[in-house]
Amino acid sequence: MNQDLILIDGTNGGGQVLRTALSLSIITGRAFRMTGIRGERSRPGLLRQHLTAVRAATEICGAKTLGAELNSTAIEFHPGGVKAGEYSFAIGTAGSTMLVLQTLLPALLQADGPSTVRITGGTHNPAAPPFEFIKQAWLPLVRRMGAQVELALLNYGFVPGGGGLIEATIRPSALKPLELDGGMEPISIVSAGALVSAIPVSIGSRELDRLSARLKIERRDLSVTDLGDQAGPGNAVSITAVKAGVTEVFTSIGQERMRAERVADVALDEFTVWAQSNAAVGNRLADQLMLPMAIAGAGKLTTVRLSNHIRTNAAVIQQFIAVDVRLVQSCDQGNIVVELQAR
Ligand code: ATP
Repeated sequence: MNQDLILIDGTNGGGQVLRTALSLSIITGRAFRMTGIRGERSRPGLLRQHLTAVRAATEICGAKTLGAELNSTAIEFHPGGVKAGEYSFAIGTAGSTMLVLQTLLPALLQADGPSTVRITGGTHNPAAPPFEFIKQAWLPLVRRMGAQVELALLNYGFVPGGGGLIEATIRPSALKPLELDGGMEPISIVSAGALVSAIPVSIGSRELDRLSARLKIERRDLSVTDLGDQAGPGNAVSITAVKAGVTEVFTSIGQERMRAERVADVALDEFTVWAQSNAAVGNRLADQLMLPMAIAGAGKLTTVRLSNHIRTNAAVIQQFIAVDVRLVQSCDQGNIVVELQAR
């Protein structure tokens, strides 16, 4: 196998450092060995979502992989050339389909033809980007960079039931740099609402009461989307807003023993931090834009705080490609500037 192995210690990061390494390994053709995968998480190693990402990455480029097993804390990945195709991947649990898609998408943009990817699992997971965030916030900016991608939600999937299905069509396209400056432009709220699935609509109504009170939007202008029992039990609160031409989506996923008001407050608190700042994007969109910016060779954004995801993603990106990632606290309001520049 390839002797020029990039050695990565994944201990301080989450699944993201593994996914970024997989994407960049395929794109650069450089093999890697990662140890300490999700080392500080309560259940370290590869969970089903991570394992599916490894297997899917293996399939789209005919990689040779060692250690791709459930709970494994070390893998070795030797990529081949990425191939366009019609792919289907099943996570097998309610693990996030969006995170598996984010692993494959950058590589398939560089394939020799269009690809279709179908993934089953969760579409609205806690601690992962929900479908609406990817569709309305992340993807439009990646498209602005030049990506030709369509994304559809075919079935909803919540934790723990899963059963969600998404489909993406990805056409070969080069990414170009993007700069997002933010500024004190007025914010316009595009939508705010609650989604309920196989749970009482009254839970969504309580969430709307909270949204109405804190966003100062008339209660009658807000509505609950009730999926009935087409999917398993689930609940989400989302706020979609535009600032300086950038659409942001702040979502909170309802979980057992979490009061409806608290579910709404989580999304509201994240929205408020961004709305009161002059940063271009929230810290979640920031860490997820770093990979496409790195592939483009440059990029710059301002965000609200320096998260561990931003730090650990910067470190792994710099191990694969010749870009410098600068993370600087601006004097202005304490925003963080994330800047990627070719070395
Ligand atoms: P782990 O269990 O190791 O945390 P993971 O595979 O879920 O594993 P993370 O490394 O934590 O991966 O990455 C989660 C990703 O989901 C990050 O990019 C983070 O910004 C994003 N994310 C989490 N919550 C949200 C949210 N509400 N909206 C948008 N993105 C989110």
